[in-house]
Amino acid sequence: MGSSPDSSRDGTADSEARAARGVGARPVGLFGGTFDPPHAGHVHLAESAQAALGLGRLIFVPAARSPHKPAPGAPGEASAAGDRLALLEALCAPRIDWSVSTVETDRGGTSYMIDTVETLLAAGELGAAPPYLLLGGDQLPGFHSWHRLEDLLALVRPVVVHRGRDAAGQLEALAASLAPELAAPLRAGFLDLPPVDISSTELRQRLGRGEDPGADLPQEVLAVVRARSLYGFKPREATPQGEVKSGGPPG
Ligand code: ATP
Repeated sequence: MGSSPDSSRDGTADSEARAARGVGARPVGLFGGTFDPPHAGHVHLAESAQAALGLGRLIFVPAARSPHKPAPGAPGEASAAGDRLALLEALCAPRIDWSVSTVETDRGGTSYMIDTVETLLAAGELGAAPPYLLLGGDQLPGFHSWHRLEDLLALVRPVVVHRGRDAAGQLEALAASLAPELAAPLRAGFLDLPPVDISSTELRQRLGRGEDPGADLPQEVLAVVRARSLYGFKPREATPQGEVKSGGPPG
């Protein structure tokens, strides 16, 4: 895993490699989150936004610590950054135009998207066109309090992807509480997609019970869950009589 600001998975600064990755040509999408684990809902959002916006590249940015999630040591604290990076690396490996940035996990502490965007821009990683910032609709209620929001919205094009049942309503409520120049790009970037009801929280619980997550967790991600024994996952075993015995969470 690279540790420089230019630390997307295939992130050499070499201009040929950058041209091959589409830097400077089609716009780049940034997708931040905890990704604990990355799941089919994230893939749905990423693929849909990529197709709708014509993104040349999509960069997943796992947070060291999200300002909106439990603090280190608190119940529900995120898994180790190394594990979450490995899960995302596996997800992105088969896709040439998806990569993982270690900017936030290298920086450590609370992760703010404005710091990340400034770092990646300074490293020339985001191409000529302003990058898109992908946001699930559930991020809207707290969006007005994001660190240096005005600066962030001056640098990125936000794209709000419908997730909850009433993303449009939430968007309007948020837009009404923001200055018009901040509300306009949010409204402009609204993408209405059929919601996929999957969350990392629910998946961690299912894996902890030994349930097979099926299509909700990409196979390559499940392979890393198994290899690293994450989330207490022990697959249920079929007995010779055909019953299913729960592996269950670790005792
Ligand atoms: P948790 O359940 O632990 O809160 P999560 O499933 O919401 O996790 P995050 O890593 O927090 O996953 O999400 C990263 C981004 O992906 C956020 O913008 C979030 O809104 C979006 N997202 C998460 N799940 C889905 C989904 N099922 N459909 C569309 N977007 C999603």
